[in-house]
Amino acid sequence: MAQAGVAVVEEAAEVANVERHDVVVVGAGVSGIYQIKRLADLGVDAVLLEGDDDLGGTWYRNRYPGARFDSESYTYGYSFSKELLDEWHWKERFSAQPENLRYLNYVADKFELRRHMRFNSRVERMTWNEAERTWRVDLQGGGAYVARFVITSLGPLSMPTFPSYPGMDEFEGESFHTYWWPKESVALEGRRIGVIGTGATGIQVISEIADKVGQLTVFQRRPNWSTPLNNAAISDEEMAAIRARYDEIFANCAKSPGGFEHVPDRRGFWSLTAEERRQTWDELYDQPGFAILSANFLEIFFDEAANNEMSEYIADRIRRRVNDPVVAEKLIPKDHGFGMQRLPLETRYFEAYNRDNVKLVSLAETPIERFMPTGIQTTDAAYELDVIVYATGFDAITGGYDRIEIVGVDGQKLAEKWRDSPSTYLGVLSHGFPNLFMVAGPQSVSGSTNFPRAIETGVDWLTGLLQHVMNDDCTRVEAEPDAEEGWVGEVVSAHERMLFRRSKGWFTGYNSNVAGHQEGHVRYQAFFGGAPKYTKTIAGIAADGYRGIDLR
Ligand code: NAP
Repeated sequence: MAQAGVAVVEEAAEVANVERHDVVVVGAGVSGIYQIKRLADLGVDAVLLEGDDDLGGTWYRNRYPGARFDSESYTYGYSFSKELLDEWHWKERFSAQPENLRYLNYVADKFELRRHMRFNSRVERMTWNEAERTWRVDLQGGGAYVARFVITSLGPLSMPTFPSYPGMDEFEGESFHTYWWPKESVALEGRRIGVIGTGATGIQVISEIADKVGQLTVFQRRPNWSTPLNNAAISDEEMAAIRARYDEIFANCAKSPGGFEHVPDRRGFWSLTAEERRQTWDELYDQPGFAILSANFLEIFFDEAANNEMSEYIADRIRRRVNDPVVAEKLIPKDHGFGMQRLPLETRYFEAYNRDNVKLVSLAETPIERFMPTGIQTTDAAYELDVIVYATGFDAITGGYDRIEIVGVDGQKLAEKWRDSPSTYLGVLSHGFPNLFMVAGPQSVSGSTNFPRAIETGVDWLTGLLQHVMNDDCTRVEAEPDAEEGWVGEVVSAHERMLFRRSKGWFTGYNSNVAGHQEGHVRYQAFFGGAPKYTKTIAGIAADGYRGIDLR
């Protein structure tokens, strides 16, 4: 009897500890903030769970020096509120992390979104209950929610990866991943800093700290192509002109494959002379942001000869900027062409290597043997260091999903289903996981385009689907297997058309940051058919009564 009593008390405590809502959203970054705004506007009973102690996602976490947009700020901000667009003044063409975080806080405060958010609420497990047609969402450290629908806005780059070298734990100085750069400022002046990794993050941090530290040693496994960001301040007058043009700006972004204002050059690579192509690239090299990619000739992505010529042009630019020809050659990628991985944008990155206090260590030539308590030992030398910065990237796009145990119909685990490569319908749903919607999910267009532009499209579409479902008293929403297979087929064929299909990059190929990912084994993480095609496809599917989605 006594035991039965205890069980009843425990069950009551358990019930009291479980909050019920119609919708649980997971992740309070750029996507989650907009998603909760849309749900709040509709009066949906929804709560937003965030593992960190505040909102902002990427812009809350990545506090490393030099972190900034590489999309034009005014194309990165939300477009949904004219008032917000009128109020906010972007101070720089490519705004830096502190300002970006202020922006997201401003949005949350302006629209009173914080009241829907629960911080320090990291989701550990999500379990589908077929009988109830609900998800149970368990938090790390206790506490649970039950919801009819779950929307994940986990962010494509929220699962940092570390290398694995002998002795890493023995290092006695400070060390951290750029994603977890400490909130309080890190002393750099006069100190010996080692940076491992030369992706977009490494390139930003190296450029920013080179002239502030005592000695900077860069441990480079593979070089990356990189071109100037061409940042500049935005004056009051310029901002007024941008505000007046916002409708046009967003319309332009919606029309372009990458979600930017830049328009691809369709004159035809081979119809111009080599000299004309060179002149075009000279102009693009001085233009802001991704113009050099997205306003370039489309042939560079499909035609090997065109790509080789472009790569040689950029290699020449690097040679002209780096004083030591041996160092310059080490900084020029030889294993992949220009634009075949996500292009990092830089500000005086290559000039950093002209400084006496900056040393480039090519791990291809002299690999790391082990970490020492005082630094890093390569096959060639021992580097004494005070701080080691891991700019070693992310288990991108699916990593955020893998760290939650997501258990669907008949106990199937999402991580198992996606072990080789993700499989989704439109990047929003995955068969076997009903009522689970993804914002910027794998195989959506978000990973391959200007992120906020794509997530606004995604959130709006998803919200429409949710409204449709709720109005119809539908309790179960699942991707049909054939429809999912069809979408994966489209993702694969769009990917296979690209020259970068075998790259090592995090969204173009197999992602070499993650131990266990095998070279040549492509993970089809993103849809490369372009934003306009994606938008048209999902709109057509909605108009067709959500074709391919089983609504019960
Ligand atoms: P990343 O581009 O994947 O680069 C990771 C770097 O770490 C690569 O150089 C990689 O070398 C190196 N690395 C990984 N494992 C290693 C190991 N075991 N030993 C030595 N080196 C290792 O990651 P990221 O630089 O963090 O950038 C990820 C994405 O974040 C970007 O592509 C971009 O989308 C986003 N981002 C955006 C901005 C912005 O301006 N808005 C800024 C930064 C980042 P390998 O190349 O040899 O694998």
